[in-house]
Amino acid sequence: MVDTIASGREAIALEERFGAHNYHPLPVVLTRGEGVFLWDVEGKRYYDFLSAYSAVNQGHCHPRIINAMIHQAKTLTLTSRAFYNDKLGVAEKYVCETFGYEKALFMNSGAEANETAIKLARKWGYTKKGIADNQAVIVAVKQNFHGRTTTIISASTDPTSTAGFGPFMPGFEIVEYDHVPALEKALANPNVCGLWIEPIQGEAGVYVPHEGYLKAAEKLCRQHNVLLMMDEIQTGIARTGKMLACDHENVRPDILILGKALSGGALPISLVLADDEIMLVIKPGEHGSTFGGNPLAAAVVVEALEVIKDEKLAEQAERLGKIFRERMNALIKKTNLITLVRGKGLLNAIVINDSPESKTAWNLCLKLAEYGLLAKPTHGNIIRLAPPLVITEEQVHECCDIIEKSILTH
Ligand code: PLP
Repeated sequence: MVDTIASGREAIALEERFGAHNYHPLPVVLTRGEGVFLWDVEGKRYYDFLSAYSAVNQGHCHPRIINAMIHQAKTLTLTSRAFYNDKLGVAEKYVCETFGYEKALFMNSGAEANETAIKLARKWGYTKKGIADNQAVIVAVKQNFHGRTTTIISASTDPTSTAGFGPFMPGFEIVEYDHVPALEKALANPNVCGLWIEPIQGEAGVYVPHEGYLKAAEKLCRQHNVLLMMDEIQTGIARTGKMLACDHENVRPDILILGKALSGGALPISLVLADDEIMLVIKPGEHGSTFGGNPLAAAVVVEALEVIKDEKLAEQAERLGKIFRERMNALIKKTNLITLVRGKGLLNAIVINDSPESKTAWNLCLKLAEYGLLAKPTHGNIIRLAPPLVITEEQVHECCDIIEKSILTH
């Protein structure tokens, strides 16, 4: 017999009892979502200020995306890449034209897309740059977050990601983030095939590099014949006020890595884009995934990106992000509890004036939830605030009122 849930408490108890304890969720049990809103099992409505880590930029259960999904789900969902299907090529052409690349490779999770980018950069390093076998180095930066596989965490500097999971994969050099001289030094090594960065470090706590950093990184990559591998899984798809965060500096990565909002939260879809010279170093049989590029995902990705364009969500994020940060900066003047707000578009964070070990940010998130807004701390004392991009100006003000009330009564 399959259980049904009678209360939020029961749902939490079931997860605690039968689920692995690899997350520490806020005690809220959600059952329905629509646009910027989520509802819990008791019927309480919340503004979603996490957007599933920016996977739900188009808003929960966007009707156009869900309809495309239902239509395709009734027709054909998965054939594997052993055969062609009539949706994948259409989606590949669409994403290549949207982002300006010659080739696309679909995967599922963000971690898999990053793994794909690593393999591409290494193979390109050996076959095109002439790096000796097994000597390729990828330069990554401190406080990066690219996913949870054993190879990816080998480049992590966060002990919560790494402790107890060694041995680690060799071939990464880690340098300071937002520090051009560190890149100048590292990229001069002729064995470097790729520079792997997030244009804004989301998981680390929404760290925005100084203007010109990404442009300098691009220039150094060109100078040293190194591939610029840009992880836009959290920052891409309109979140920061442009289709891609690197568009703010007119930077074009050699390998563009996307995920999350590619499906508007409907399915795990990730994507790597590159030109022929890079993408075609991988030959048939050398890389793949059973679900990658399935017709269901192909149909969903096109509709999810059409929604971003039709509803002008990048422009919306740019405009409302400014209003949001203005409101937060005004609030900072009224309280000692937050020290700063930082971000771009609708990817923002506030920093709580307490140590990362304190419970202050967690307790503040409980208060926010009580007042009807869901957010979660990252790294102890930072609260990321990233609503679906379909939020209206009026709703942004209402949410700023909730945040203000929670902070001033905390
Ligand atoms: N890269 C970045 C920048 C991310 O923010 C994330 C997830 O938060 C990932 C990669 C990993 O994506 P996934 O959880 O789908 O594997």
